[in-house]
Amino acid sequence: MSDKVENVVIVGTGCAGLTAAIYTGRANLNPLVLEGVMPGGQLTTTSEVENFPGFPEGIDGYQLMQNLRKQAEKFGTRYESGSVVGVDTSSWPYTLQLADRAIKAKTIIVATGASPRLTGVPGEKELYGGKGVTTCATCDGAFYRNMEVAVIGGGDSAAEEALFLTRFASKVYLVHRRDSLRASKIMADRATSHPKIQMVWDSVPVSVEGVPEDSVSGLKVKNLKTNAESVLPVKGVFVAIGHIPNTAPFKSAADTDEEGYFVPTAHSQVKTKTAGLYVAGDCADHHYRQAITAAGMGCQAAIEAERWLAEKESA
Ligand code: NAP
Repeated sequence: MSDKVENVVIVGTGCAGLTAAIYTGRANLNPLVLEGVMPGGQLTTTSEVENFPGFPEGIDGYQLMQNLRKQAEKFGTRYESGSVVGVDTSSWPYTLQLADRAIKAKTIIVATGASPRLTGVPGEKELYGGKGVTTCATCDGAFYRNMEVAVIGGGDSAAEEALFLTRFASKVYLVHRRDSLRASKIMADRATSHPKIQMVWDSVPVSVEGVPEDSVSGLKVKNLKTNAESVLPVKGVFVAIGHIPNTAPFKSAADTDEEGYFVPTAHSQVKTKTAGLYVAGDCADHHYRQAITAAGMGCQAAIEAERWLAEKESA
């Protein structure tokens, strides 16, 4: 391990992590940001972000993340690739364990986000990634020009994916297990009234049909009210049923709830049971989960880290 001790290591490059980098950078802490397998986080897979304040015409998700990254760099942020596999907070400075190295840090901000959840039905895993099953319409939608596709889910993500896919697909089935969408009213109205989107209510996926390890030929669904099964003749299946928080490597240092999300302490949304270790963004928030709330938590975590470190070093 190098002898260097970082002032602050921020784990994650989504809205929360990069906002924390801007704030700790401006506080002259020269933050180190660790970039995992999905630089920029979930927003890089979103098309248009219409609700981030300050962009009346909306902004492309990838562009927004590039802007945040540049803004953080301007204030002295450094970036390194690496996924954290564990953290040792038994002595201070703390140690972050990566696959190939360890990093010592006086403060840590965990902003690792959440990964897409899959349904677990037969065929899904075998046909995932380039073979017809995906969790990202922005990334893969263009491959389904003039084809029929299905989106599974009933939240804002599912509505957004379905609407985006109407640009390419000839028809989009939106398969939801209940008879109304969980999505915000504006998104739900847009999806349910779109001429290319056909709602498949009260239905769950049973299996993804196709040539194993090659391509999708259909999605078998079951209507929960009638128990009738049918196969939707789709070439693409887009799964949008929520996320799993990326918190496992930090469980010894910060408490999590039964779904794995970091839980707030009595005094703060971003503090944990470990002094000097903070959490921000989707890994610690299963309620709001917005770009702007993640950014807000990143700001809070950065201010807490800066104040705690100043006190500790002046003691
Ligand atoms: P979500 O709101 O948690 O919705 C997940 C959906 O998947 C729900 O409709 C749920 O059904 C369904 N579902 C869960 N497990 C399932 C399973 N095993 N099989 C079938 N269906 C299943 O997740 P999200 O849509 O990813 O949104 C997450 C957050 O991000 C939300 O706060 C959302 O508002 C926000 N978001 C906002 C925007 C935007 O503002 N443009 C875009 C995307 C996301 P039930 O409804 O029956 O529970």
